[in-house]
Amino acid sequence: MKTFDYPQLQLQQVTTLPADADCCIEWRETSEHALINQHLNGERRLRQLLPSGVLWSFGKAPKTVSEFERLTLARAMVLGAMRKDDRHLVLIADDADHMQALLSAALAAQYELPTFKKNQPAKRELTISLLGPIDAETISLRQAEAEGNAYTRYLTALPANELNPWSYRELIEELAETEGWECKVYRYKELEKMGAGAFLAVARGSMNKEASIVRVHYKGNPDSVDTIALVGKGVTMDTGGYNLKTGGSMFGMNGDMNGSAVVLGNMLAATRRGEKVNMTGWLALTDNHIGSGAYHANEWVRALNGTTIEVVDTDAEGRMILADTLTLASREHPKAVIDYATLTGACIAALSTRYSGVFTNHEPWFLPLIEAGKQSGERIWPFPIDADYDENIKSNIADIQQCNPGKSSDHIDAARFLSRFIEPNVPWVHVDLASAVHKGGLAHVSTDITGFGIRLTQNLFKMLF
Ligand SMILES: [Zn+2]
Repeated sequence: MKTFDYPQLQLQQVTTLPADADCCIEWRETSEHALINQHLNGERRLRQLLPSGVLWSFGKAPKTVSEFERLTLARAMVLGAMRKDDRHLVLIADDADHMQALLSAALAAQYELPTFKKNQPAKRELTISLLGPIDAETISLRQAEAEGNAYTRYLTALPANELNPWSYRELIEELAETEGWECKVYRYKELEKMGAGAFLAVARGSMNKEASIVRVHYKGNPDSVDTIALVGKGVTMDTGGYNLKTGGSMFGMNGDMNGSAVVLGNMLAATRRGEKVNMTGWLALTDNHIGSGAYHANEWVRALNGTTIEVVDTDAEGRMILADTLTLASREHPKAVIDYATLTGACIAALSTRYSGVFTNHEPWFLPLIEAGKQSGERIWPFPIDADYDENIKSNIADIQQCNPGKSSDHIDAARFLSRFIEPNVPWVHVDLASAVHKGGLAHVSTDITGFGIRLTQNLFKMLF
C-alpha cells in the first residue's frame, strides 16, 4: 500500500529576514510599515520578483475577518507565491491571528495527495521561518493539526484497491503500535457472537468476512477517568449494495471512509502534541457490495442493543454500521461521543459542501458547537433532532425503519435513527461531513479532499474539557 509521505519541514522563529530566503509572504493591516518597502524603489505590487531572486507576496487584510475568511486569504497568498523548488519560505505578519493562518495554509500546501504515476514527485524539504507574533504553543498546535489533516486526506484519497477493510485494519494496527495506542479488533466472527446485526447486515456483502470494528485508545491523561469517544464511518467502497449506485454516482465512493480518517487524524494530532486527554477511536471498517450474502430491502435485522431494524435501502449503509459501533462506544460511558460520517446527500442539499451538519442530544452544546466551528474556520451548523421526526422512520414490522427514501429530511432522520443506539445519559454529537470534499478546497486547504474536522475537533476539546 502507498505509504504516508509527510514532507520534511523545519520551522523556526526569526527576528530579521533570513539571507537565504526564496519566498516571502507578508501580510499586514496596512502597507505603511511593510518590510517589502525596504526592497523597492518604485511601485509595490501584490506579487513581485526582487532583483535578489526572492519572490515577495504582499497582502493587506483587516483584523476583523472571520477565521474562515482569514484561512481562505492565507491559502490564496501561499498558493500564489510559492514555487515548487523554493527551499526557504518566510512568513511575515504583524498580527498573531494572521500569522497562524499563514502558517496553517503553508503547512497544508506542503502535503501532496498520493498518486500512482510512473514519475513520482521528489520528497520536499522546506524551512519555514516565522517573522512576527506567534508563540510556541500555537506553532505546535498548528503543526499537529496539519499532520492530522494531511493524514486524513491521505487515507481518503487512497483508491479502493489500496485501502479495503483488511488492509485498513492492518494499517490501523500498525499505526497503533507506532503511536503507542491500545488496539482491539472486533472481527466478523466475534461480532456475530455479540449480535451486532446492524453492522453485519452491511459486512455480509464484504469479501472474505474481513470487515471489523477497531477500537484504539490514546491515554494522554492517566490521572483522569474522562474519555472522549470518536466514532468514524469507514466504508472503503460504497457501491450502494443492491440499491446499486448508477451513472457516475459510484465514482469517488472510495472516500466514504472519510469519517474514520477524521478520527485517526485527530488521534494523531493529539498524540503528536502529547495532549493531556484520553481518547478512544472506534472505526467501523467494511465496504458495501453486492453478492450472494449481501443484505437487501425488506429484511429485518437485530442490532447489538436489541433494536430491530427494517432494511429499506442498502445504500443507507452508514447508519447501519454506525448503529452498533455507537452502542459499543457509548457503553463505556465516555464524557462525550462524537461521530463523523459522510452520511447523507440531504445534508449536502441543505448546506452545500461549504459547511458540515451537526446534531446533538445535549442541548447546551448547540451554541458552543457553532462557535467551535467559527473559531476553527471549519464551519458546522446544527439541525434539530426532535422526537416527532421519528414518524418518518416508523416501521410496521420492526422497532424502527432504516430510512425513508425521498424524504428531504434524511439527514435529520438519520440522526434520529443513530440516537437510538446511544446508551442513556451519554452526551453525543453527530457530524454529517457534507464538507469532506469541496471542489477547489476549503479554508486553508487547497485540495478537493479537505480533511475537514481536525481543527474543529481540536477546538471542541477545549469546550469539552
Ligand atoms: Zn451508501
